[in-house]
Amino acid sequence: MASRTIPVDAFDIVLFGATGDLAKRKIIPSLYRRFLAGQMPAEARLIGAARSDLTDDSFRDLVRESLEEFVSAKIRDADMTAQFCDLCSYIAIDAKGDGGWDALKSSVRDEVTKAFYFSVGPNLFGPLSSQLREKGIACENSRLVVEKPFGHDLDSARKLNADLAASFDEDQIYRIDHFLGKETVQNLMAVRFANVLFEPLWNERFIDHVQVTVAETVGVGGRGSYYDDSGAMRDMVQNHLMQLLCLIAMEPPAAFDPDRLRDEKLKVIRALDPVPPADVVRGQYKAGPEGPSYTEDAENPDSLTESFVALKVGISNWRWKHTPFYLRTGKRMTRRVSEIVVQFKETPHSIFDREGTSAPNALVIRLQPDEGIELAVTIKEPGPGGMRLTTVPLDMTFADALGEDHIPDAYERLIMDVMRGDQTLFMRGDEVEAAWAWTDPIIDRWQEAGDKPHPYAQGSSGPEQALMLMHRDGRRWRDLDA
Ligand code: NAP
Repeated sequence: MASRTIPVDAFDIVLFGATGDLAKRKIIPSLYRRFLAGQMPAEARLIGAARSDLTDDSFRDLVRESLEEFVSAKIRDADMTAQFCDLCSYIAIDAKGDGGWDALKSSVRDEVTKAFYFSVGPNLFGPLSSQLREKGIACENSRLVVEKPFGHDLDSARKLNADLAASFDEDQIYRIDHFLGKETVQNLMAVRFANVLFEPLWNERFIDHVQVTVAETVGVGGRGSYYDDSGAMRDMVQNHLMQLLCLIAMEPPAAFDPDRLRDEKLKVIRALDPVPPADVVRGQYKAGPEGPSYTEDAENPDSLTESFVALKVGISNWRWKHTPFYLRTGKRMTRRVSEIVVQFKETPHSIFDREGTSAPNALVIRLQPDEGIELAVTIKEPGPGGMRLTTVPLDMTFADALGEDHIPDAYERLIMDVMRGDQTLFMRGDEVEAAWAWTDPIIDRWQEAGDKPHPYAQGSSGPEQALMLMHRDGRRWRDLDA
């Protein structure tokens, strides 16, 4: 089944931070892929902006290099690359300075959609948005895209929201959480709300627990000082894992509409229980054959920042009162895996004498690798050996099931949604603040107590204590190598 490409109207995208890592690795390649797919129209323009003193031609060289490095040679096309580069130009602007704004004003067109993408540190969100408004470059129809991290805690998130709100309305602001742009995450909503099968079972009566895992094999080398100030809780749980939890736990919205959906996510965050100390495990990776220790990577020998965290989270509402959600995320783990496991309960009574293997049903939603959804069901083992049971997966790996060579990168989807004016997959300001309001007390407690993370081996599943978090409840994490 080939994916349908719905062209978007002509647009101008002004990319602040165009010389940075994210622009080169994700944003420019994503626009190019949409251009190849015929979705980004030939009338669109990409205007790069940063402090570096580049000409249009040297920026186009940077664009070409970024495509060579981050777009597969199999899909690159010399003629299309030349056409794409023709749509690119550059203006040197310091967010906090006066130069370049007039040139930007005369470069963007009033008659097309205007999007301003802030791929810069959050300390520049306020200055950039007020310059755009004061200089008359942005108007009511302009859109603003902001990258994570959206704040460091509740106070800083409130300040960022206030800074943006001084120049833009909430319906113009697109806060990116790239997890929401993943095909599987959207499929999670389709599976839940477009099939009659799951929703009646989607509650504490039938679901024993839910696991959300985001495991990475990389360490923090290269961005150690940024990460050391943040840690796994701020960098991953407050945003990505929280968003996944919300999509599993939320009530069906009345319509697939940005505000209806975000209202339901917000209700989930507000129903999260405070997490007692016994229900959180923090870890820090040790040195190993794969590389230096966390503290060496962070260049901070006394660092108490966690590179791993696991939590048991309760939700106080009718649907989930007795169904815990276990979240874990970490660096330098055995395998790069992002997945959600919805673990159903045992059948109330078994009519089979339990020969062979049988396991309660589990719905596994894989974000990476091999985006897809798998349902573990128990069947009879084939053959005349009696009624022996075995568990098999009903597997829907999207690349196989849909015949797609290329599942679009989350950024491709999200940037096109901005151009279409669809905020469904972006976080609203109150959602972000509610997530910080839940996260802050957990982090504050560690800091007040001088809590030390547990060391764990590189290439492992995290510290032993994280395994115990589930063992003590008679449960276990799904094997990362499964
Ligand atoms: P980066 O490589 O350090 O790039 C920062 C960009 O901002 C550069 O283009 C820099 O260009 C520009 N810049 C810095 N100060 C400026 C100023 N005063 N005025 C105008 N432009 C300025 O950072 P990055 O990794 O691309 O990340 C950008 C943002 O995305 C950050 O908030 C980061 O947390 C977030 N993010 C990054 C990733 C990632 O994978 N890299 C993932 C998710 C979120 P000049 O030096 O030429 O001005």
